[in-house]
Amino acid sequence: MKTTIEALRGREILNSRGKPTVEVVLRCSNGVEVTASVPSGASTGKYEALEIYDGGERYRGYGTKTAAMHVTKEIAPKLIGLDVRDQRRIDQIMIDLDGSRQKSRLGGNAILGVSMAAARAGALAAEIPLYQYLGGLRVTRIPNVMSTVISGGAFSPSGLEFEDYLLALEGFDSFADQVEAISGMRWHLEKLCKTKYGPVAEDGGALAPPLRNTPEAFECMLEAARLTGCEDHVKLGLDVAANELYRQDRGVYEMTSGEMEPEALLAYYQRLAADYPLVYIEDAFHEDDWESFTKLTAALPQLEIVGDDLFATNVERLKKGIEQKAANTLLFKVNQIGTVTEALRTAEYATNHRFEIVASLRSGETNDVFQADLAVAVGAKRMKLGSPVRGERNGKYNRLMAIEEEIRLKDWM
Ligand code: PEP
Ligand code: MG
Repeated sequence: MKTTIEALRGREILNSRGKPTVEVVLRCSNGVEVTASVPSGASTGKYEALEIYDGGERYRGYGTKTAAMHVTKEIAPKLIGLDVRDQRRIDQIMIDLDGSRQKSRLGGNAILGVSMAAARAGALAAEIPLYQYLGGLRVTRIPNVMSTVISGGAFSPSGLEFEDYLLALEGFDSFADQVEAISGMRWHLEKLCKTKYGPVAEDGGALAPPLRNTPEAFECMLEAARLTGCEDHVKLGLDVAANELYRQDRGVYEMTSGEMEPEALLAYYQRLAADYPLVYIEDAFHEDDWESFTKLTAALPQLEIVGDDLFATNVERLKKGIEQKAANTLLFKVNQIGTVTEALRTAEYATNHRFEIVASLRSGETNDVFQADLAVAVGAKRMKLGSPVRGERNGKYNRLMAIEEEIRLKDWM
């Protein structure tokens, strides 16, 4: 039986950074009503779908009433009456209606909210869980926990140069065991930092202690792993977010120790990989420096070399990266591309070309747990989840535990 879209509207809500975002409400002919809300990044790349904001006085210009109105007044009339399970058509209609290269007319924040709401309602209409609706019956892989426990970079008071210092968990029996371990490590790390530095600032739940450099951060993280008793199952990762460090006029990266040419930065990564159990480097260079990415991927083939701003979850950029061997792992964020259909296409292309996928939250999150289902749907190896100390992050941890339980129960029955 057809389940058609009967009503659709957008509204302004707040995200975890206290900044407005868009929530979409969608009602179907079967009476089911769903909502979906849109995450938002702070270190956004220039190839991402664009969010639109109102400008003016409200919320320092960051109101989302215009984007919400686009849902209600422009998008809804084109979608009402369509079968909610026709995700590809729904997304394509919005892409055509927008007509711009980066969804700048209607707003990536308007379009994605509708796309997510349609997927959620579609799963309900099909009477299967969202991860299965998006990923098919074969999906059973729960991503490993990848947690930002120390925050540096442009948005952190820590003084560290890289954006995310990540604990990458491996070899646990279950996702639930990983949650227990990361919770313990985060707790020990906070205690360690407080003992060493006194009160410690935070950014989105990640700690921002006044550390001098990356090795010092790594030592603290490994010590927290030892105190939790899980040092054998923990590796390290970095999100350099190199766009933020790059000084285009001089072609250098601004590090705390001084400026570095791309070659020197590459040598620095090699040193870190030799000295520490580093398995993951994201956005090691700025988003147009394909050449340095290719050199790094060749120099450290055993590491996950990850493109975030580099690929922007865009299949065309991913194709280029695969051709140039510029990485081996895709960072996957649905709001970078702006529709569920396009994000799934990018993920499929990655999988078909033996790229691993690391699904990721944005720093400005909402309580919507859609990204957890999506990460399972695309078979992500890891999920960048943030520290397990805030509601908008823990919702995703909890949803992944629930999915794991559901999949295991089905295996057992
Ligand atoms: C990132 O760069 O990987 C990230 C999650 O940060 P943001 O959401 O602020 O872009
Ligand atoms: Mg990143």
